[in-house]
Parts: sequence; structure tokens; C-alpha cells
Amino acid sequence: MKQEITRFAPSPTGHLHLGGARTALFSWLFAQKNKGKFLLRFEDTDKDRSKKEYEESIISSLTWLGIKPDEDPVFQSKNIELHRKMALSLLESGKAYSCDCSPEQLNQMREKQLAQKMQPRYDGLNRDKNLPHKDGNVIRFKMPIQGKTSFEDKILGTISVDNKELDDLVILRSDGSPTYHFCNVIDDEFQNVTHIIRGEDHLPNTPKQIQIVNALGYEGFEYVHLPLVLGEDRKRLSKRHAATDLMSYRQEGYLPEALLNMLAKLGWSNTTEDIFDLEKLVEIFEVQDIQKAGAVFDIERLNFVNQAHIANMKI
Ligand code: GLU
Repeated sequence: MKQEITRFAPSPTGHLHLGGARTALFSWLFAQKNKGKFLLRFEDTDKDRSKKEYEESIISSLTWLGIKPDEDPVFQSKNIELHRKMALSLLESGKAYSCDCSPEQLNQMREKQLAQKMQPRYDGLNRDKNLPHKDGNVIRFKMPIQGKTSFEDKILGTISVDNKELDDLVILRSDGSPTYHFCNVIDDEFQNVTHIIRGEDHLPNTPKQIQIVNALGYEGFEYVHLPLVLGEDRKRLSKRHAATDLMSYRQEGYLPEALLNMLAKLGWSNTTEDIFDLEKLVEIFEVQDIQKAGAVFDIERLNFVNQAHIANMKI
């Protein structure tokens, strides 16, 4: 049987936040449970926002929690030549096309669609023109127009979208840089990932990425989309509710065991036990016990768990 490989793929544009830490924890637990591998990839292609200091702080926060990748991290920016090569190969095989629409043309297209109460998208103007690719043009992916894209999410069940909802997205920009959806798929293949475990905010990306997987002739991945982490008002957790980055809790003196314990219970449960350590968690964790509904972060609970772990410390 193929070894199960998961990955955590943060963009190093900030410190590790609670949602990210929970994603990393569940991916790591899944790999531990299945005697697989857990990998780390920095999606660092946004040059302006990606920072070395954030890479270091994400690694340091994961280490503090006890979540160790099984291999050295991969940096997306180092794979750009591969991404470019794959975009050109799709162009060659007719699965992508060159497009010279100007920003003004795209704007007009958008406004016209909005006026007709349509979802703005590329209308396919250059799709069948077979324009020769030259500097300054973008490469767009030729999404199928008919049929549906369906997949089984391990938590959410069958997800299905009409292909006509999917945009002919740009895979290579006019400056030759590859775009996020495209790099993400190629890097997952490059790292031999089998299971993509990530936040539910990425769910709308998945059908587009599955079409890219198909066009590139990859075998494909299993998907697990985790419920969002919410504040007490059931809106997405933000700084309005509580500190969102792990660093703050670390600096305030919370124990890593308490954070892990709390993160594990954010959207997952198969135990009435409140206090457990990482070893116990590996033993009892099952991906099918992850819930569908958003998970509310509760600082009172974290404080309670932290106190219990302090009381359990062997002095
Ligand atoms: N880089 C993405 C993020 O930080 C993760 C993408 C993924 O897990 O596929 O949200």
C-alpha cells in the first residue's frame, strides 16, 4: 500500500495562527496514526508579503508544540522553473491558451457581467483563438465547460460543482510568474502528497485544482477540509475575539501541552476526557471524528486546560 503523506503548506506572511496550528496538528496526527509522513512546504511565491522571519517563527512554533516535519521544508519559490515548464506543456497540448486581454478589457468584461447580475469571470474571448504565446501574454487554463467536478471529502462527503462555474484561471502571469492554484497542485505532486488536509476556506479552490490535476495527468489526492475556527459570536476567529497567533500564548506562559489539547478539541472529539497529552492523542485520533460544523475557540477552556496541565506537572 502507498505510504500516506500529508503536508502543512503555510504562506509565510505572518506568525502561525491558531487555525494554522490546528491544521498542522491534524495533518501531523493523520500521518502519525497511519505511519505515514508529515511534510512542511512554505508557499512563499508572494515576494512582497513572504518573510524569512515568519518562516522561522512558524517552524519555532511548530517545534514548541512538538509537531516535527519528517523532512526538511520545501520552498515553493524554488520550484518556479518546474511550474513554468508545466504551464508551457499545457499550452503545447492545448489544455491551456495564451491570452492578451488588457486590464481595461477585463474590467469592461467584469462590469458588463455585474450589470447583468452574473458572477464575474473570464468570458473565454481568447479561448479558441490559438494565439501565439508571447511576452506580456498570460496563460489561461482551459476549464471544461460541460459536466461537473465531484470529489469525496473525508469530512464533508460528496462535493459537486458545475464546471460552467469554474473560471479559465490564469496559470502563468504576463511577467512569467506562476499563480497560486497551479503551484499548489504541482508541489503536492512533487512532494508525493496523498492527503490534503486544510481549512474549509480552501474548499472553493478544490474543484479548480482537481481539473488542473486531471490536465497534468496526476493520480490525484484525497481531501479533508477542516471546519473553520470561530469566535464566540460564531464569526471567523479574528483579533476582535482573542489573540490569534500562537506566539502570544507562548509569550504569556501557556504550556504547549495545553495549546495542543485545546487545538485538538477544536472541531474534533471522540473522547469525554478533557486533559490528554500528545501521545494519548495519537492513540485516540481518527479523522472521521472531525466534525462538519465550525469550531468555537473558547479562552476560558484554554485557561482551564492550562491549569490542569500545570497541576499535572511532575515537580
Ligand atoms: N498556502 C495556503 C494557506 O496558507 C495553504 C494551501 C493549502 O493547504 O493547500 O492558506
